[in-house]
Amino acid sequence: MSSNQSLSNLDLSVLWHPCTQMKDHETFPIIPIKKGQGIWLEDFDGNRYLDAISSWWVNLFGHANPAINAALKDQLDTLEHVIFAGFTHESAVKLAEKLVEITPEGLNRCFYADNGSSAVEVALKMSFHYWRNLGQIQKTQFITLENSYHGETLGALAVGNVSLYKETYAPLLMDVITVPGPDCYHRESGESWSDYSTRRFTLMEQALQQHSDTVCAVIIEPLVQCAGNMRMYDPVYLKLLRAACDKYHVHLIADEIAVGFGRTGTLFACEQGAISPDFMCLSKGLTGGYLPLSAVMTTDQIYQAFYADYQSMSAFLHSHSYTGNALACRAALATIDIFQQHNIIRKNKSLADSMAKAAIRFHDHPNVSEVRQTGMILAIELVKNKRTREPYPWQERRGLKVYQYALSKGVLLRPLGNVIYFMPPYIVTEEELLLIAEVAWQGIQHAVKD
Ligand code: PMP
Repeated sequence: MSSNQSLSNLDLSVLWHPCTQMKDHETFPIIPIKKGQGIWLEDFDGNRYLDAISSWWVNLFGHANPAINAALKDQLDTLEHVIFAGFTHESAVKLAEKLVEITPEGLNRCFYADNGSSAVEVALKMSFHYWRNLGQIQKTQFITLENSYHGETLGALAVGNVSLYKETYAPLLMDVITVPGPDCYHRESGESWSDYSTRRFTLMEQALQQHSDTVCAVIIEPLVQCAGNMRMYDPVYLKLLRAACDKYHVHLIADEIAVGFGRTGTLFACEQGAISPDFMCLSKGLTGGYLPLSAVMTTDQIYQAFYADYQSMSAFLHSHSYTGNALACRAALATIDIFQQHNIIRKNKSLADSMAKAAIRFHDHPNVSEVRQTGMILAIELVKNKRTREPYPWQERRGLKVYQYALSKGVLLRPLGNVIYFMPPYIVTEEELLLIAEVAWQGIQHAVKD
């Protein structure tokens, strides 16, 4: 019989975990999870943890969700996977149809990959290749926003801007044009989100004006820069950017890997700017947090630029072995079904209100510079000095103290640096939101006390 201790010892002797300094586990135990049920995870010693960050933002409707489980069991008995070149299958076709239906107007083509970073690679390559197929071979660059994050593979890392992940690998990465962003944390006091985001757009407009000849696409995370400490901006920026991309003949890539599927209050964040990007990258919540799958949605116009006789050598030859995996597609179909049958977007509005209410007390905390929220994402920024917003030195790892405290109280909150955030599955109840907030409050008290 495994226990926490026996399994962690074994784990640490053979495994290497993501986004982790493994030496930390000499002092902080790794937690072996035995099972998940709804919003709760349970370890091998019987301790329970409320999954307040949806297991890295993927889980939407709880662990072991009965509807997704049933769909997967059926799929498992029918077809687990098949090569996706020269072959297709029912779940992949139905899912693509569904995605075309629910994503913004004009996104009529679906290309599958198997994780978020790969979807970003696909969008970057497709954009570049589109211009090349049109004879515009001078278009080889990408514009990205300061503080953005698009994944860890080399292309995705290159268009990201979080130095913690990027700096070490800089010599390996393609050059990109990085534009100061619309992150409203930096707005003047009294300035609205929309005024600030509009003001900051002039810098993007300048970059587009200057570089449009050589730029393939602008890539953004619409509304919330999640891995960039949950920094947020106003939908007006999306509107302005769409218009400018059209004006300067540059593609717009919307990376909705983290913000898609209801996180920002609408099914897709782009809806709040009433825009359609040229590429939309989806993953994470796409399968309800069950299986790795991603999709790049794009337009007929882009698809047509690749559609020609084989000899023209204009095909998009990118591939991954698990493209269009049948189990993952079926989990995604079951997930979208839940959205539609249970009117989740409408229900989430009152859940988001409850989350705001649960977090009201944090606004006045002496070590909180900002509580910000977009839909089902709420972030609390811890600082050393509320008035000057001086951050805590990163070496002090205050956020980590909150994390460890919260775990001891049965809540999984995994801060980004010193930003504590709530990003729960949509099955969270009001009581559970109050519990998350109470434990976060105590955790912050614990973390700032000396
Ligand atoms: N883009 C965004 C906006 C993300 O938040 C992430 C993952 N955190 C990725 C891309 C990369 O996805 P994956 O981890 O599945 O490669």
